[in-house]
Amino acid sequence: MRPFLAADKLIIILAGICATVALQTHWEYPDRVNNGTEPSWGGKCDAGKRQSPIDLYTTSSFKGEFHKFEFKNYDVSLRGTTFVNTGHSVQVIIPEDKQIEVSGGGLPGTYIFEQMHWHWWSEHTIDGLRYPLEIHLVHRNTKYANVSEAVQYKNGVAVFGVLFHITDDIYEPLTDVLNGLPSIEDKVGSTTTLANDITTADFLPADTKKYFRYEGSLTTPDCDEAVVWTVFEDTIPVTIEQVEEFKYVRKDDGAFLESNYRSIQASYNRAIIYVDRELEERNSQVQLSTCSIPITILAVLLVLRSRLD
Ligand SMILES: [Zn+2]
Repeated sequence: MRPFLAADKLIIILAGICATVALQTHWEYPDRVNNGTEPSWGGKCDAGKRQSPIDLYTTSSFKGEFHKFEFKNYDVSLRGTTFVNTGHSVQVIIPEDKQIEVSGGGLPGTYIFEQMHWHWWSEHTIDGLRYPLEIHLVHRNTKYANVSEAVQYKNGVAVFGVLFHITDDIYEPLTDVLNGLPSIEDKVGSTTTLANDITTADFLPADTKKYFRYEGSLTTPDCDEAVVWTVFEDTIPVTIEQVEEFKYVRKDDGAFLESNYRSIQASYNRAIIYVDRELEERNSQVQLSTCSIPITILAVLLVLRSRLD
């Protein structure tokens, strides 16, 4: 497969994930500033039974344990990668040659990192609680050539949803991204490049052992039901001022993109799995307990010997 050119890559990703007016019919988020009604996006977005986002409840989820995630090249610098205003978000596009991949964690295959973008406020909620910011790390299954193809298949795309919580301290890697906003926020389709050495790992939470897993969809039209979702329970700190900076991004009509989260969708009795530890932890505990019998016998023998002495 030939290496992607930046322009090819941009078109493929925009077509597959966050569509622009030029590539798809016009669609809008609800006007939440004026209590606007939920717009109908049509097609699978309205008729689908595995739509995202959903509310995630620890108390009504199935307990799960998967092998640990294998993150490859998540520590590679993203300096110089393209940062674009899509009109529905701002998005960092990952070149194919970075070879940033993930497997394990119960994922049905190896997935290559394609792009990341932000939603202000969060799309997923946990136990009914909404978060100020959510980043989506979008990966495609390596058995498909690109995202456009991957979205046609169940589990073709793996998205990590990482939530942020408000605190006093600035999150520096996000500041490094936000520094690029002024040059792209006024015009849909405008691009810049990231100027700092942030990494993919900067946008994973500290604890990646605890997460929700479910089968869902893209949260933008065409809402393809191709996504294996991982929403981590641990969150990344951010200040409210950092989140507010996203609100200066403009849409294609020139208005500010005040928020870009889709409303919670019905779960239709879908299996939602909650993972709170890695399978390797159970295995290591099993090994410890099988060791404990000989250790007990040894201890008894030592006591007996000391008495005989
Ligand atoms: Zn998204």
